[in-house]
Amino acid sequence: MDGLVTTVLGPVAPEALGPTDGHNHLWIEPTAGTDPTAPVLNDESAIRQELMAYRAAGGGAMVDCQPGGCGRNGRILANLSRATGVHVIACTGFHLRRYYPPHAMLWQLSAEAAADLFVEELTGSLRETKNNPQPIRAGFLKIAGEASFEQTSGHLLEAAAAACRATGCAIEMHTERGTAVEEFLQFFVDQQVDPQRLVFCHVDKRPDFGFHEAMAKTGAMLEYDTFFRPKYKPEINVWPLLEKMLAAGLSSQIVLATDMADSNMWAAFGGQPGLAAFINGIRARLEETAVPVSIIQDLMGGNIARRLAIFPG
Ligand SMILES: [Zn+2]
Repeated sequence: MDGLVTTVLGPVAPEALGPTDGHNHLWIEPTAGTDPTAPVLNDESAIRQELMAYRAAGGGAMVDCQPGGCGRNGRILANLSRATGVHVIACTGFHLRRYYPPHAMLWQLSAEAAADLFVEELTGSLRETKNNPQPIRAGFLKIAGEASFEQTSGHLLEAAAAACRATGCAIEMHTERGTAVEEFLQFFVDQQVDPQRLVFCHVDKRPDFGFHEAMAKTGAMLEYDTFFRPKYKPEINVWPLLEKMLAAGLSSQIVLATDMADSNMWAAFGGQPGLAAFINGIRARLEETAVPVSIIQDLMGGNIARRLAIFPG
């Protein structure tokens, strides 16, 4: 049997996803007791409208990177997917500590209990959709590295490794501008996790080609998302980096995304550039270059879809 991607509406063949923003946020409920400046996305009709524009531009799927306990709502993700025809892949796992209240349940669990929770959300149902007639499942693990390996919860890293070994799911890992990726990778290798299951996020904020080349050659995937962030100077950083990676024949290890957790980046909230910019901005620009169509398709969906596919047994 071939691997399938678990979307919020059920399993889908990876090639059916179409263009896929590899790291985004479609819904973030405010979480009491956390940083009041944390991003919030909770206007369902505006979000639906924006997703329709993404679909109309040619978008096929969205990888939602908000785990449970810090704003995820699987029922609403399923509603949004049903209403717009955009495939949505939800996650289990853990985000940065600051997005949870001080006594959040997840952070009190043993590694074993946290792994059980992650596996339950990947194979049974998301916690908040337990009573749904149709189970809504997570399709991957999203985890977060703090500013150093030592500051990151060892328990939760172990839990993620165990859930990955048990289910074969992919892990997308938030990094603080690419910090400590080498140490996180070594941790997972020591934990018997195949680097082929790993995606390191936001690493284009560390645009050192030697680092990217070395990481890509381990089999890990690298997620780039600063295309619309002037602060990170995309013209002198991510675009030339991407060009070098393609010239080095490493296109299979790259996933493109926009990571628009901030509503100021959504057109439906009066911001710029909007979710459709994944297609109208990034893909349109790549199409003006000599990059072959098949490689553009891999960068903009194929690579992440194959990594999200879970093989039974
Ligand atoms: Zn994110």
